[in-house]
Amino acid sequence: MSEAFDVVVIGAGPAGYPAAIRAAQNGLKVACVDAWKNRDGSDAFGGTCLNAGCIPSKALLESSELLERARSEFAQHGIQTGTLTLDLAAMQKRRAGIVRTMTGGVASLLKAAGATAIHGTARLLRERRVEVTTGDGARRTLTAAHVVLASGSVPTELKALPFDHRVIIDSWDALELTAVPKRLIVIGAGIIGLELGSVWRRLGAEVVVLEALETFLVAADQQLAQEALRNLRRQGLDIRLGARVSAATVAGGAVTVDYADPAGKAQNVAADQVIIAVGRRPYAADLFAPDAGVVLDERGFIRVDGECRTGIEGVWAIGDCVRGPMLAHKGKEEGIAVADRIAGRYAHVNYEVIPSVIYTAPEIAWVGRTEEQLKAAGVLYKSGVFPFAASGRARAMQAAVGFAKLLAARDTDRILGVHIIGPMAGELIAEATLAMEFEASAEDLQRTIHAHPTLAEALHESALAADRRAIDNINR
Ligand code: FAD
Ligand code: NAD
Repeated sequence: MSEAFDVVVIGAGPAGYPAAIRAAQNGLKVACVDAWKNRDGSDAFGGTCLNAGCIPSKALLESSELLERARSEFAQHGIQTGTLTLDLAAMQKRRAGIVRTMTGGVASLLKAAGATAIHGTARLLRERRVEVTTGDGARRTLTAAHVVLASGSVPTELKALPFDHRVIIDSWDALELTAVPKRLIVIGAGIIGLELGSVWRRLGAEVVVLEALETFLVAADQQLAQEALRNLRRQGLDIRLGARVSAATVAGGAVTVDYADPAGKAQNVAADQVIIAVGRRPYAADLFAPDAGVVLDERGFIRVDGECRTGIEGVWAIGDCVRGPMLAHKGKEEGIAVADRIAGRYAHVNYEVIPSVIYTAPEIAWVGRTEEQLKAAGVLYKSGVFPFAASGRARAMQAAVGFAKLLAARDTDRILGVHIIGPMAGELIAEATLAMEFEASAEDLQRTIHAHPTLAEALHESALAADRRAIDNINR
């Protein structure tokens, strides 16, 4: 016997659960099935983001930054603390508690919306039948007018350094360490590498980051990337660019990684643990039967059109398992849009205006196009930069590093990109994102009143600087 639904969503990560909630809000009968298992064997909704990604990483970034600030800044504020000690067990307990609260919250949200939440592994069969295997091995079959695939992604493994989850670890392992490694190698200076490298350096590890590319943060505006590199190196992250890793030897609980430097010279570095952070790959293992009709592209992503349709009547795919940036908020918007499309409502995801944030200190955030992309496209633009050194609020916060940079079209004045490195950059980018969503001009931002003294004034001044009319900076 099968149970009939209007919509079945497979995956309850930040793409899947919003799709299920919005579909239920639209008056549809919805089931959301998720297979996530915690390391202790318990089930949880929320996917990678809540269980092993965004939320636990931000919890540890916050705790470790407080330790770092207490160590290096408090004395400048006139606060003497005596000897600081790290209680890693308490820090990890706080992280786990936040995760538990947030993932429990997803279950409550689904329930409150009237969606049926099921812990189990789902497989799409022909004609939108979905077979679900629950923890006890029981099987049930769901049928639906629409199925939304939101199966997410998993860490990419390096052939030369396969995970053993003790010495060679992935990002989830790295969030749950119970002791600070004395020496830590991070392979990949991408978002995960920089965030987790920062956490463990602040907690006392000597951290070497090996990055294959010679260009740091290749997708970011390079003025921003260079400022980030300077700051992160100054903090003690030993970032080695152009390092091509070839092998690793694990012996006696330690690891030696061999790599070639940019000149091709053989090098090696030893550590207690290695975090592999070289990207993530879409996950679709056993997600659909061969005759279900779903097609993967050459990189393993579920093939979809611009509106997340797979090409099979009533089957959609969203989030990390489809093309586009692997970001929680991108998946969320796709989930909401698909649920609205299913209900016959208007929906649109603006892929040109998706903010990116790296939660290091200083934070790094951007939206829209970089100076390099504008040059390559032959777009004539103007640039305004405002340093946080000239921001009263940043000075008061003892955080006067970095800058806000605004790029606007020279002919129409339309904002084309905003790149911020500095305190709370991840929050400040929201204003730039909204401005770009409304197709605002630099003048629109110039004429918008910003409260004083706030960090947001840096964005205001960067817009003024684009026309050489900044007030609070001599290099206008
Ligand atoms: P996922 O969150 O991966 O969820 C997919 C779910 O589907 C999982 O629960 C999985 O168990 C389930 N599933 C898969 N197959 C099946 C099946 N057959 N049956 C049932 N269930 C199934 N992004 C940000 O935007 N901001 C951040 O700060 C950020 N920090 C991150 C930090 C780390 C350490 C990591 C690893 C990632 C981070 N990300 C961040 C990326 C973010 O986690 C992902 O982009 C996001 O989780 C993708 O959402 P999703 O719903 O597509 O997939
Ligand atoms: P990433 O793509 O950001 O970075 C991977 C880095 O590893 C790149 O710089 C790449 O050049 C390098 N690399 C690849 N192969 C290598 C090799 N063999 N040796 C050395 N370096 C190598 O990927 P990530 O940091 O693993 O993160 C995965 C995904 O999770 C990203 O798509 C990201 O968007 C998402 N994420 C987002 C956030 C956030 O929004 N704050 C945080 C963490 C993760």
